[in-house]
Amino acid sequence: MSKVVKVGKVLVGGGNPVTIQSMTNTKTVDIEQTVQQIKMLQDAGCDIVRVAVPDFESARAIKLIKEQINIPLVADIHFDHRLAIEAIKNGADKIRINPGNIGEDWKIEELSKVAKEFQIPIRVGSNVGSLRKEFESKYDRATALAESALHEVYLLEKFEFYDIVVSVKSSDVIETIKANEYIAQKIIYPIHIGITEAGTYDTSIIKSSVGIGHLLLRKIGDTIRVSIAGDPIKEVYAARKLLVSLHLRKGGQVIACPTCARTEFDVEQVARSIEPIVEGTNLVVAVMGCVVNGIGEGRHADIGIAGTKDGAVIFEKGQIIKTVKRESICEELLNLIKKSHL
Ligand code: SF4
Repeated sequence: MSKVVKVGKVLVGGGNPVTIQSMTNTKTVDIEQTVQQIKMLQDAGCDIVRVAVPDFESARAIKLIKEQINIPLVADIHFDHRLAIEAIKNGADKIRINPGNIGEDWKIEELSKVAKEFQIPIRVGSNVGSLRKEFESKYDRATALAESALHEVYLLEKFEFYDIVVSVKSSDVIETIKANEYIAQKIIYPIHIGITEAGTYDTSIIKSSVGIGHLLLRKIGDTIRVSIAGDPIKEVYAARKLLVSLHLRKGGQVIACPTCARTEFDVEQVARSIEPIVEGTNLVVAVMGCVVNGIGEGRHADIGIAGTKDGAVIFEKGQIIKTVKRESICEELLNLIKKSHL
């Protein structure tokens, strides 16, 4: 089991529940927009949020942002360790550095001293863009990625800094899996997992589910980010669904049949319209296009609906409790979901 690292009030590692992370895509210096997006991310289920800190103004903005939020904030730093120090002094709860681009060891030492003084963890966040040259020629890319992160971890340990989280990410699923399996054998620190630059929504969902899912099932990973090009709120929804489907987080699920020639109503539309409500419960709700297979296939659901010639039947644990007209399917189903959730 990994060591526990405290990010603000959130515990990461040591068998604590796997947390969800995301990152704002507003300009960090735009305090109002950034705070608004952070609150939306938190409402969606995000546990830890990260902001980019490209300059000193952004580092100083952290102080004002922190005054208006109650979720741990991570400062994402590239190239200049002084930005990390400034972010810590302005209240960042964790620092993420890309070891490949911070430079000389004394900079890491200086940063680690301030992080230690403020009791702020550091994530060594390596990706294939930050491979150390000596490892690149010696190992395959996955191993080079892991060894590059380990090099930085050993450096922090040399400076007696142990409040560490590690991530090794590639946009390639297999490479990410191999790098994480490798590093998990070598460290006791919590691991942040995800497929980096995973692409647009559809592609990312598949790559992230395979990569993150595989690792979590192998008990590797303490905190996750599903990286999606675009709206970060979608990252959080996807991460939640992923954790719920792996039974690592409680949450409702809609199961829906794939539809066929027997389908009696618009299954996709009904499933989509109830999904936001169901996800806030612990119920499994089945939306099935017909009674021929629907009730049997959906019998393990808490509540279900199956299409008939005239409308649909609603069932609970496989037992029909009501028939409803086609036009009132959504309304009746939502009423029952709300009643069952009370
Ligand atoms: S539940 Fe009925 S409509 Fe849906 S796929 Fe199965 S047979 Fe077809």
